[in-house]
Amino acid sequence: DLVAPKRALLSVSDKTGLVDAAKILHAAGVELVSTGGTKAAIAAAGVPVKDVSDLTGFPEMMDGRVKTLHPVVHGGLLGVRDAADHAKAMADHGIGGIDILYVNLYPFEATVAKGGSYAECVENIDIGGPAMIRSAAKNHGYVAVCTDPSDLAEVLEALKAGGTTLALRQQLAARAYARTAAYDAAISAWFAEALGQDFPARKSIAGTLRQTMRYGENPHQKAAFYTFPNPRPGVATATQLQGKELSYNNINDTDAAFELIAEFDPAAGPAVAIIKHANPCGVAVGATQREAYERALACDPTSAFGGIVAVNSRLTREAAEAMVEIFTEVVIAPEADEDAIAVFAAKKNLRLLVTGGLPDALSTGDTFKSVAGGFLVQSRDDARIKASDLKIVTQRQPTEEEVRDMLFAFTVGKHVKSNAIVYARAGQTLGVGAGQMNRKDSARIAALRAADFGLDLKGCACASEAFFPFADGLIQAAEAGATAIIQPGGSMRDPEVIEAADKLGLTMAFTGVRVFRH
Ligand code: 5GP
Repeated sequence: DLVAPKRALLSVSDKTGLVDAAKILHAAGVELVSTGGTKAAIAAAGVPVKDVSDLTGFPEMMDGRVKTLHPVVHGGLLGVRDAADHAKAMADHGIGGIDILYVNLYPFEATVAKGGSYAECVENIDIGGPAMIRSAAKNHGYVAVCTDPSDLAEVLEALKAGGTTLALRQQLAARAYARTAAYDAAISAWFAEALGQDFPARKSIAGTLRQTMRYGENPHQKAAFYTFPNPRPGVATATQLQGKELSYNNINDTDAAFELIAEFDPAAGPAVAIIKHANPCGVAVGATQREAYERALACDPTSAFGGIVAVNSRLTREAAEAMVEIFTEVVIAPEADEDAIAVFAAKKNLRLLVTGGLPDALSTGDTFKSVAGGFLVQSRDDARIKASDLKIVTQRQPTEEEVRDMLFAFTVGKHVKSNAIVYARAGQTLGVGAGQMNRKDSARIAALRAADFGLDLKGCACASEAFFPFADGLIQAAEAGATAIIQPGGSMRDPEVIEAADKLGLTMAFTGVRVFRH
């Protein structure tokens, strides 16, 4: 099954490394054929190369839309060399076999990413390239198909041992179809967006492999990270400036941290979130980033050990100095000062990520959750509650401070696993109760934590991400010290819950919006 290649067709938009590869192929006795721009680049380096037009007898036409779509090309890629009738057809029609195909496609994704016009995007839909890739991959029994420089490097390596093996050509074919599938998915997603449709109107969703990990959530699980074209700033756009490779759990938790901190507009001041197991163990704003970090840490310094820290503005040296005082897995920031980066340099294991920006928390997008045999898709939870959205349902009206605290607590509560209870005051979480199967326990756990760390809940706000189905959870919160309750409302027993709040002298606001997170 070893194929010693005689002819290669090269047609690439990204011409990085092209000339070196062409030289190696030529030196190995492989004849080169190319399309216009690719041919010019190879010929300019003095390497002999044929123009594909010489094979087809047609010039490239229609702005390059038709270059390689011709039986001479596709017959050369698809012909089964060992089948007598195929061989005869090739001989009868003067079709020479093509044994290596190297194609990288028109940069459609990059054109979309840089905000290309509708017409530019359409013109960057490659037709002949994917057609050739699919032909070559189908005929992997004879043809080695390369869609990126590392594929080509593997083929060049194989040539040293006399040719490509079937095993290699099969692998290349699998990658090639993944590439054309992702390419078409990007085109389809762009169309859907241009037409104002979101995911339910899309037939398929595909991502591109970004990173394989040593293991998944647990060491016996395999894992990889796939990204979509044109991602919002976050883990998918992050550059890792230092530290060990990111694990599956790191990526999951870091995403939770950054999505949370994106709720806090940097124009309103620095904010810091510390996350453990995808739940916040402390979130705070501060006059400085360092102060915000210290206030977030104070909420639960025990859980913060080995946590993930996210900041909403450029990372400062002062904050970095406070962060390295305890063991932290990951720090993620939109950007980082040079002297902040220098502080982390001494902590070799700490992973520092910069994303290049803060995502718009109100932007739309899709989120996924796997179920056996498929996945669920929903739009991002872009709920944002403003003071004017609040409906005060108690006799007592909230003070300005209570309104501020309620909104802060509810915003954090949106990022806490349900059932979620958050106590907060003056831009600082004081107790977080996450992931319990009943709300009363979440309220109790949040209060226990506050007590553990000596935080006084007197006069704080309490947020519940979904309604209180009974008065018990609310009574629990009041006993802990909360005086202002924020919750969606909408329970059958709202009257009973409101009555309890009035009896306790609380103020309570309904948001009308539930922010479950399971
Ligand atoms: P070049 O720079 O060599 O002129 O063009 C290379 C690009 O053309 C590659 O990205 C390749 O995928 C693409 N290509 C090759 N044949 C065709 C074709 O027949 N139609 C279209 N639209 N693109 C092609």
